[in-house]
Amino acid sequence: MKEDKNPKKPIIYYYIITLVVVLILNAYVFPSVLKQEITQVDYGTFLTQIENNKVKTAEIQENQIAFTANNDAGKESIYVTGRVDDPELVNRLHTAQVKFSKVIPKENSPLTNFILSWVLPIIIFIGIGQMLTNSMQKRMGGNSMTFGKSNAKVYVEAQTGKTFLDVAGQDEAKEALSEIVDFLHNPGKYKEIGAIMPKGALLVGPPGTGKTLLAKAVAGESKVPFFSISGSEFVEMFVGMGAARVRDLFKQAQAKAPCIVFIDEIDTIGKKRDNGGIGGNDEREQTLNQLLTEMDGFNGEKGVVILAATNRPDSLDKALLRPGRFDRRVPVELPDLAGREAILKVHAKKIKLSSNIDFNEIARATSGASGAELANIINEGALRAVKCGRKYVEQSDLEEAVEVVIAGYQKKGAVISPKEKQIIAYHEIGHAIVAAKQAESAPVHKITIIPRTSGALGYTMQVSENENVLMTKEEATNKIATFTGGRAAEELVFGTYTSGASNDIEQATKIARAMVTRLGMSKSFDMMALETVSNQYLGGDSSLACSPETASKIDGEVLAIIKNAHEKAINILKENIEKLHTLSSYLLEKETITGDEFMRILQS
Ligand code: ADP
Ligand code: MG
Ligand code: ZN
Repeated sequence: MKEDKNPKKPIIYYYIITLVVVLILNAYVFPSVLKQEITQVDYGTFLTQIENNKVKTAEIQENQIAFTANNDAGKESIYVTGRVDDPELVNRLHTAQVKFSKVIPKENSPLTNFILSWVLPIIIFIGIGQMLTNSMQKRMGGNSMTFGKSNAKVYVEAQTGKTFLDVAGQDEAKEALSEIVDFLHNPGKYKEIGAIMPKGALLVGPPGTGKTLLAKAVAGESKVPFFSISGSEFVEMFVGMGAARVRDLFKQAQAKAPCIVFIDEIDTIGKKRDNGGIGGNDEREQTLNQLLTEMDGFNGEKGVVILAATNRPDSLDKALLRPGRFDRRVPVELPDLAGREAILKVHAKKIKLSSNIDFNEIARATSGASGAELANIINEGALRAVKCGRKYVEQSDLEEAVEVVIAGYQKKGAVISPKEKQIIAYHEIGHAIVAAKQAESAPVHKITIIPRTSGALGYTMQVSENENVLMTKEEATNKIATFTGGRAAEELVFGTYTSGASNDIEQATKIARAMVTRLGMSKSFDMMALETVSNQYLGGDSSLACSPETASKIDGEVLAIIKNAHEKAINILKENIEKLHTLSSYLLEKETITGDEFMRILQS
């Protein structure tokens, strides 16, 4: 391997630098440090000092005399002077009553000297060097200095501890995967009849829907070794490293068959190969090629099943998806009403609940939430119960937790002037009345004007009884009218416009645009697709697929829909202006009211 030598070069440089540093230390730094406090004087000064009785002690050495004397400041310091052939020296010292002696030269053995000034520093430097490289390797998540050798990392995870019971509301996915579990338990049954198990299954769905969890559950259910690696782990500093890892991984998996290989976030390596990239793509491509080769190379009968997860299936290379590779696709979608209730119950098992919890209500209020968010709601509820000093989680804790996860924590200390508070109250009641007065709208569940950390100054929560999979044109236009209801109330009562409607505007426009460009709900465009959506699981970026002239016509249509809805909202509020006033002042006083309270006053 060509790359093998490159990483070693820096080590040689390192040793050379170490050597140079030690040389410099020996030549300049050590001696000057040691000499620092000793002042060199001439012999005459020494004699004068003796005559002036300044010298305290003297040490006659081989070539020099070291002595201590009081300096001008009266402090004792050390001096040296060269040794002169002076027969009177002893007499002088004696008469001046200086303590003096001659040192018997005691030299360090050359060996000790050598060790102290050469071997020891080098050992210390090498030690530091080793520590640095070690920690660097750890940070890079592998042994990057010695790759290509068979220092294979063992990827096996014995027990994931998860089973299908931990995964709720993904019945179709579980069913598709339980076939794999069955195959791993009993490959013979399949072989007998001549059926070939798919080599790989790809779990696709939005983030937080339980893809990783499902893969672990499959391993837990089938009680086979589980080799798990995340796509990003393949992407290494050095070209060729990722491919080497893929090889290692499959070699180990083959040896341990039957087993499961799980590649999480496979899109990091499995992106479409194209020529557009600037540098740096080599590594990913090599890794992907290696993965494709390995998947072709191994014999599925042995019982190695490859699972992969991603939330960007449309960005995957086509070669990954062809039969014989990840030919089975298991959708893991956002949970529906029943699914949400089931997920809440699974996670609620871990906490202490009071007896009268209505999970259905929480599930209805969390339309569109992922499994991860629902798990978070349960935990937030438990945290709130602790904060309130309770031993059990109550319904109110979970309800508050839903709002925390949707809109953030309550901002109790926020300073909002009474006037603004009033505008916010009218705004929210405006939404609520428009919603309530339209036949196809979801019932109002709760209205609040307590600000939240997400920046929401208040909100109106609508919760539908059951979940529809289809949205009619009427429902869509009603939704837009409801969004415009807040601003409509502000206009009617205060005659001004505030920035409080910015989010409503965004939402209303989004729906109106989708009606025109994707849902075929406008007259002029009939069933023409004007927009394509990519990345559907990650927010869905859409791009227009039409001429600029059409684009401006689309804008006109969208505007007309919104204007109509806005007018409708204003009319509804005009007809109910008395209720708008009563309800707004009631909300202003209470800050939070339930849907029932709202309906009672509206219908009285
Ligand atoms: P993904 O890999 O799809 O992004 P994860 O599998 O990492 O999502 O899910 C994150 C967490 O959310 C899980 O550990 C689990 O606690 C919770 N969760 C998600 N989906 C489910 C589900 N269907 N049933 C139970 N818990 C779920
Ligand atoms: Mg995941
Ligand atoms: Zn609003």
